[in-house]
Amino acid sequence: MSERKVRVRFAPSPTGPLHMGGVRTALFNYLFAKKHGGEFILRIEDTDQTRFVPGAEDYIIESLNWCGLTPVEGPGIGGDFGPYRQSERKELYKKYADQLVESGWAYYAFDTPEEIDTLRQAAEANKETFAYGIATRDKLNNSLKLSEEEVQQKITAGEAYVIRFKMPADTDVSEDDLIRGNVTFNTTKSLDDKVLFKSDGMPTYHLANVVDDHLMEISHVIRGEEWLPSMPLHVLLYKALGWEATKPRFAHLPLILKPVGKGKLSKRDGDKLGFPVFPLLWTDPKTGDVSRGYREDGYFPEAFINLLALLGWNPGTEQEFFSLEELGEIFSLERVVKSGSRFDPEKAKWFNKHYFQQKSVEELSELFKPILAEKGVEASDEKVNAVVAEIKERCEFVSELWDQSSYFFVAPTEYDEKTVKKRWKENTSAQLSEIVNVFETVENWKADAIKEVFSAFMTEKEWGFGAIMNPLRLALVGGNMGPDLFVICELLGKEESIARIKTAIEKI
Ligand code: GLU
Repeated sequence: MSERKVRVRFAPSPTGPLHMGGVRTALFNYLFAKKHGGEFILRIEDTDQTRFVPGAEDYIIESLNWCGLTPVEGPGIGGDFGPYRQSERKELYKKYADQLVESGWAYYAFDTPEEIDTLRQAAEANKETFAYGIATRDKLNNSLKLSEEEVQQKITAGEAYVIRFKMPADTDVSEDDLIRGNVTFNTTKSLDDKVLFKSDGMPTYHLANVVDDHLMEISHVIRGEEWLPSMPLHVLLYKALGWEATKPRFAHLPLILKPVGKGKLSKRDGDKLGFPVFPLLWTDPKTGDVSRGYREDGYFPEAFINLLALLGWNPGTEQEFFSLEELGEIFSLERVVKSGSRFDPEKAKWFNKHYFQQKSVEELSELFKPILAEKGVEASDEKVNAVVAEIKERCEFVSELWDQSSYFFVAPTEYDEKTVKKRWKENTSAQLSEIVNVFETVENWKADAIKEVFSAFMTEKEWGFGAIMNPLRLALVGGNMGPDLFVICELLGKEESIARIKTAIEKI
């Protein structure tokens, strides 16, 4: 390929929250740009006014920012090829639609939606599907059939019309897809006359997409597999508009599949199996329905990016952990597979655990502090750090820190019944009272020192360790969980530890 500046775009339609598959498309575009020293652009494809959802564009931008996939050009960012919102480019498309009519690649169609619906229903009654195209267009209400005057009259009279692409008959359209290799479609077999320009004065996706990719000098179109059937039309549009020489290369990414069963990963799978399919929490502006997000579920963006990168791409080695930067150095479309890749929610958690463990105690403490504040807990940085250091290994998510450590900050108000039954014997209270006395004598309140004094006393008394340690733990934390008992004592402090034992003696 000649030396062409790599310019790729992520071109979502703001019709709702961005699915994680969409984020993966953005990621692969971003990585491809990084790898080739190119530019990653965001273009908002909002020509379908009927599907516009307020808040969706902001959601898309916030999601990309959270993931670190920041475009160099886009709405709110600017760039030499703007505006980057198709609704703001509205005036631009009509002339290309007209050009296609003039050159015979497109035509005016006056059929009303009701007429088309009737035809569709009639076809369905015969177990056929209606297509506006090669086989039917000559019988319909369009400029291919009507005389020039009739067409002019209708347009002057303000009759609604659309502009349709005139699909050439029985032509094989071949294109090299960078992931799939050569793909050939036969026009008669599989393609109808798609609407390019709508009666509301807006272009459709197909026209706007091709025009903008051309005007924005896009070198590679990297998008989801669901757009593969549109490729032949797009290829023909480049030809019809005389832009073949600078036509972008195409790469259609494989689907992300459900964890179990057949088909594409959907929100329903997430609801059923309890994992998010969207990067951020989303509240549907119409229904108020809330969909969970990776961010709010406590995933780190590094983990989310890492797991997305491996859905459809592989490095060709055993390596599994990659930073965004590293991915930008090694990513290649040659290592993207054709077949769909199955999403595994357990693996997603596993990735998060890795990045969680990678964080320093101080970083995790910073993330934990707002949760503590919410719980009304006041604790010194020193204590929070010490607690986090102690329990870090048991957690995969920041949200688990509280469950694993609440007893360090609040004394138990209840005691686990099962443990009480099993561990609290008749003489336990008396024994623990003696332990209180022993603890009072410990001067250097450190885990090792407490343990030493405690052990010496136990040996002297010849008490079984289990008979004391278990109820002691119960008294301190309310159950049988937690790390080393003497570490718990140290972190609680002498006064608090003794107070808790006394309370347990009273209450149990
Ligand atoms: N607007 C399309 C979408 O929502 C863009 C597809 C493409 O990248 O061409 O996915």
